Amino acid sequence: ANPDIDAIDIIFTNMCGVPRGKRLRQHEVIAVYEAGRFLPGSVLVVDTVGRDTEETGLVWEDGDADRYVYPVPGTLVRAPWLGDNAAQFLTSFYELDGTPNDLDPRHVLGAVIDELAKDGLTPVVAVELEFYLVDISNGRPVPAKSPVTGHRSTEIEVYGLREMEDFKPFFDDLYAACDAQGLPLESGISEFAPGQFEFTLRHKPDALRATDDAIMYKRVVKGVAVKHGFEATFMAKPFAEAAGSGMHLHISMNDKDGKNAFASDDPAGTPLLRHAIGGMKGSLADSMAIFAPNANSYRRFKANSYAPVAPTWGVNNRTVSLRVPAGSPASRHVEHRVCGADANPYLAMAAVLAAMCEGMRQQTDPGPAVVGNGYEAEEAKVRLPNHWGAAIEAFEQSAPMKQYLGERFVRNFCIVKGVEMARFMAEVPEMDFTWYLRNA
Ligand code: GLU
Ligand code: MG
Ligand code: MG
Repeated sequence: ANPDIDAIDIIFTNMCGVPRGKRLRQHEVIAVYEAGRFLPGSVLVVDTVGRDTEETGLVWEDGDADRYVYPVPGTLVRAPWLGDNAAQFLTSFYELDGTPNDLDPRHVLGAVIDELAKDGLTPVVAVELEFYLVDISNGRPVPAKSPVTGHRSTEIEVYGLREMEDFKPFFDDLYAACDAQGLPLESGISEFAPGQFEFTLRHKPDALRATDDAIMYKRVVKGVAVKHGFEATFMAKPFAEAAGSGMHLHISMNDKDGKNAFASDDPAGTPLLRHAIGGMKGSLADSMAIFAPNANSYRRFKANSYAPVAPTWGVNNRTVSLRVPAGSPASRHVEHRVCGADANPYLAMAAVLAAMCEGMRQQTDPGPAVVGNGYEAEEAKVRLPNHWGAAIEAFEQSAPMKQYLGERFVRNFCIVKGVEMARFMAEVPEMDFTWYLRNA
């Protein structure tokens, strides 16, 4: 026990991928490591729609009984942006008899990884996340002002070094916080729009831990941003006229000998990779509700925006949903480009790995790779679902999603998101009056 640590957050993530938790005093921590901590199951499903618990979720079936959370080994780390006495560890939910709770997103992912293990495959994954630094001091968010120059960038500065320099104090703190937490942050760039950035996390041959990293990384980015006087947002499309923020998943599969089963001199990879892509492509529509979970998510999918609009794949091509990037034969893998940065990393990873598993088992052919501009290609005539309701419905009906992610999980997710959508649709936005008040 470290005497100066006295504010320890136990963290789990709810369905929306938002970290939630409870703060412990130091003397409580050992007890939690020994026996877990009791918590109501409803905290897993309550989120954006927050207080409406009476409408949401299957957890009410048993009177919102206590389950318990148990620490994920190796995740107890300092949280320096919260102060010298702050630490945190990740937990996951179990039933009282010790079985994993089937509504906990981390367990949903764990179950899919176990399926792949049956076929002798271990996913190796890396997550890329885009975000905006915004100023919310005047109500409506605008891109943040540089702490160095005091100015707000207005130019498109993709790969802009000036913008990286302008926000250097923030990035230095971000690196320090990530290092303190063992988060393998790699390179970063200034993205397409003012105030938008992207950092990559190093790949790991452990999809659960790599996805934990993504969850914790989002928390760190938001925490450090607040310390610097701005808000960091992973909303998919905070500004109508500017680029959206995506979450790209880079995935390969190690075989039993720890060798990349997609490794090949062929830039399109092995037949196994082809089948995995076939599975991914075939289930994009089914799992859109996971990749684009919010009303705002659907505003991101626009032609020529680098966010995909169609279930397409291609080699060394950024205009498609599923890209096999250029790289060494040993590093051959696929980049899944559909998710918004607002998607729950556990669920997104689970849905994508499930699709790959199914594709490899069924030897699904993905059809021809798109060559050239994927937004204009013949293959892009079929579109991804671009409405929230349609996406939720497709997810609810999907046999493979129910099989891999669990029937109870799929049903519960759709109940929660259905309530959220109903509340969203019930609002009358400003635009209604602008357009219809006098004309109707
Ligand atoms: N911002 C784009 C998106 O919404 C991705 C840009 C990129 O290729 O990094 O997915
Ligand atoms: Mg990017
Ligand atoms: Mg990328």
